[in-house]
Amino acid sequence: MKGRERDPLNLIPERRQDLLWETTPTGEVSVTIKQRSLFPIPQRLRKIVFDETGSYVLSLIDGRMTGFEIARILSEAKGLGIEQAEASLREFLKTLQSRGIITLRGGFGHCKACGADLPEGALYCPQCGTRQASEESHG
Ligand SMILES: [Zn+2]
Repeated sequence: MKGRERDPLNLIPERRQDLLWETTPTGEVSVTIKQRSLFPIPQRLRKIVFDETGSYVLSLIDGRMTGFEIARILSEAKGLGIEQAEASLREFLKTLQSRGIITLRGGFGHCKACGADLPEGALYCPQCGTRQASEESHG
């Protein structure tokens, strides 16, 4: 599908639940991930410890808030401008996703025709007018 790249801040980040998450008493968040390998050798484990800001962001990721909402909280908590908070959060979420640490899912979905973000409960795409069929399982 062509079109503009989806802004990760429009999506809802969610921590991968199959990874081992730990939080130290001082609030540092760490996650243990499996290194990908081309060979069928035992997978190596790698523990990543996040810095203060990273840990704070991860503590906000609850699977309900969108990136934009998290950026707003981040900017207020850390005294950052909203644009700076959004820019750094955008990069952080992309990195986490590419490493398989979080998943990003659509809040209210995207148009199947043009990929535009849909408002809550939208039956028609506000961009191109395509009707959005809800996904229903058969049987
Ligand atoms: Zn559309």
